[in-house]
Amino acid sequence: MGFDFDLIVIGSGFGGAITACRLAEANLKVLVLERGRRWSKETYPRKATDSWFWDNDAPERENGWIDMRVFPQMAIAQGAAVGGGSLIYASISVEAPPHAFDQGWPVEINHPELKPHYNTVARFMNVQTIPVSQWTPRTRLIKEAAEKAGYGDRFKLIEMAVSFDPDLTLDPDNPPRVADSKTFTNAQGVSQGTCVHLGNCDIGCEVYAKNTLDKNYIPWAEKHGADVRELHIVTNIVAEGAGYRVFYDRIVSGQRVSGQVTGAKVIVAAGSLGSTDLLLNCRDRTGSLPRLSPFLGKNWSSNGDFLTPAIYPSREIDPSIGPTITSAIDFLDRSVNNQSFWIEDGGWPNLVNDALRTGSTDVRNLVLKGLVEGIRLGLQQVDPAKGVMPWFAQGVDAGNGTFRLKRPWYFFGPKKLYLDWDSAKSEAAINTIIAMHKKLSTVTGGMPLVPPMWTLGKSLITPHPLGGCAMASGPGQGVVDHKCEVFGYPNLYVCDGAVFPRALGVNPSRTIGAIAERTAKLIVNP
Ligand SMILES: Cc1cc2nc3c(=O)[nH]c(=O)nc-3n(C[C@H](O)[C@H](O)[C@H](O)COP(=O)(O)OP(=O)(O)OC[C@H]3O[C@@H](n4cnc5c(N)ncnc54)[C@H](O)[C@@H]3O)c2cc1C
Ligand code: SF4
Repeated sequence: MGFDFDLIVIGSGFGGAITACRLAEANLKVLVLERGRRWSKETYPRKATDSWFWDNDAPERENGWIDMRVFPQMAIAQGAAVGGGSLIYASISVEAPPHAFDQGWPVEINHPELKPHYNTVARFMNVQTIPVSQWTPRTRLIKEAAEKAGYGDRFKLIEMAVSFDPDLTLDPDNPPRVADSKTFTNAQGVSQGTCVHLGNCDIGCEVYAKNTLDKNYIPWAEKHGADVRELHIVTNIVAEGAGYRVFYDRIVSGQRVSGQVTGAKVIVAAGSLGSTDLLLNCRDRTGSLPRLSPFLGKNWSSNGDFLTPAIYPSREIDPSIGPTITSAIDFLDRSVNNQSFWIEDGGWPNLVNDALRTGSTDVRNLVLKGLVEGIRLGLQQVDPAKGVMPWFAQGVDAGNGTFRLKRPWYFFGPKKLYLDWDSAKSEAAINTIIAMHKKLSTVTGGMPLVPPMWTLGKSLITPHPLGGCAMASGPGQGVVDHKCEVFGYPNLYVCDGAVFPRALGVNPSRTIGAIAERTAKLIVNP
C-alpha cells in the first residue's frame, strides 16, 4: 500500500531531530510531529509569570517548554519544544566512559562502536570547551577544590555545544552585554551569535550561542525536505500493512483538533517519559500494539542527578554569569565507595536569584517552588547572585524505576503515567555524591546545604530521565533491539533516552545523539 510518508518521527529532541535529519538526507519523505512550540528569542518566556510550563493534562491551555512531572520521591524536568530538551539544556555534550556499556546493553553497543557517531555529533553540533581566558569563577573554584581535596588529576574541562568567541574580553566589574556577541553563520547556514556569558543557558540563550538542535540538525533536515510540524501531540499508533497509522491532536487556537497520517516506518522519539507513555497507551489502553514487550516501563533511571548548593560568605561565585556548566571532577572509575559519578560546577539563571531573594511566590510550579524555598531558607546570610556555588553531579543509580499506567487516587478518569521509584536502592550513590559535595565545599571555605527534599523526604529531581523502552538482546529483557527497532513490530523504532537500559553517570545527550546517528545509518544501510 502507499503511505503518506516514508518515515514519521514523533518528537524532535536528540533522537528525533538526528534521525529525521539523516533520513531526510537519504531522500526519504520525512514528517516530524512535535508536541511543543517552535521558539525564537522573541518568544522565549522571560518573566516568572510567563508561560514556562507544559501542562500534560491541558496542553491546549498551557504549552510552555518545561514539562515537569511529579511522582512519589521523584520529580522529572524535560523539554517540550521543536528541538526537545536542547532549548533548555546546559549544552554539555560528553561521551560516556567505555565501561558505561559493560553491563545491561546489547553486545553490539559499546564505546568503539559508538565512537564514530560520537564524533559526528560533535562535529555537527560544533562542540568545544570554554576558552581558558573565559573561565568562570565557578570553573576556577571547582579546579581549586579538586586540587585541595587531592583530586587535581581528575579535574577536566568538558565539551559543550556552545559557540565561543576566543577574542571575547570579560569585564569583571560590569554585567555581560548582548551587544558583545558576534553574529556568524554556522555550518548548516543558520545565523547564531557567540557566547557573552549571559548565564541563561537553561532558560534559552538570547544570543543563540547555544548550538541547539533547532540551529543545526532540524534546519538541515528541513533543507532536505523534512516537514516539521509543531504543536502536534501523538496519541496512538496502529499497525497498518507493513507500516503504521499515527493519530495526533493538533493544538489550534487553544483547541485540540484530531488528525492522522500513515508512514512506512515510524520512529518514536518522544523522550524517556513521552515514548514510554505513548507505547504503554498503545499496549494497555487502546490495545493497538498488544505484542509490545512486558519489559516496557522497566529499568528507568534518574541518572543519579544531585544538586548541593554551598554558601561562600566571603567569595564571589556569581552562579548566574557564564555558561551553566564548564567542567567536572571525574570519579566514574568507581574509586570512591565503589560508586561511579562525577561532580560538575553548576549555575542558574538570574531568574532563580530573584526567586531566592524575594521568595518563590511567582514560581507557579510546586516542585520548583519547594526546591527554591528549601534552598532559600539556608541562604539568608548571602546574596544568592554572588556567594553561592551550586555543585552538580550525575552518577550511576540503581535504575530501578518502573512506569505504568494508573488511575489517579480518586479512581476516576483516564489512566495516567505513574512511576514506582524507591530511593533506598540509590542511597549509596546519592550519599557518596553528597559526601563529595561537602568535602569540595569545605576545602574551599564553603558551607554545603543539602536540600531538605533529600534529607527529609528522600526525594530527588532530575533533568536526565533515562529508560522505559530498554534496548536489549531479546524481548524478555527489553523493548527494542540494538538498532532501536521494537521487538515484534518491524519498521517501528524507539530512538531517544528511553532506550537506555541503565544509567550513564554523565550528561546523556551526546550518547543519545550517537545512538540516533547509528540507528539512522542502519536504516539506510541495513
Ligand atoms: C534544564 C535541563 C538541563 C539539561 N542539561 C543537559 C546538558 O547540559 N547536557 C545533556 O547531555 N543533557 C542535558 N539535559 C538533558 C537533555 O535535555 C535530555 O537528555 C535530552 O534532551 C533527551 O533527548 P531525547 O531525544 O531523549 O528527548 P527530548 O529531547 O526530551 O525530546 C523529546 C521530544 O518529544 C516531544 N514529545 C513528547 N511526547 C510527544 C508526543 N506524544 N507527541 C509529539 N511529541 C512528543 C517532546 O516535546 C520533546 O520535544 C538537560 C535537561 C534539562 C531539562
Ligand atoms: S552563557 Fe549566556 S551567552 Fe553563553 S551560551 Fe549560556 S546563555 Fe548563551
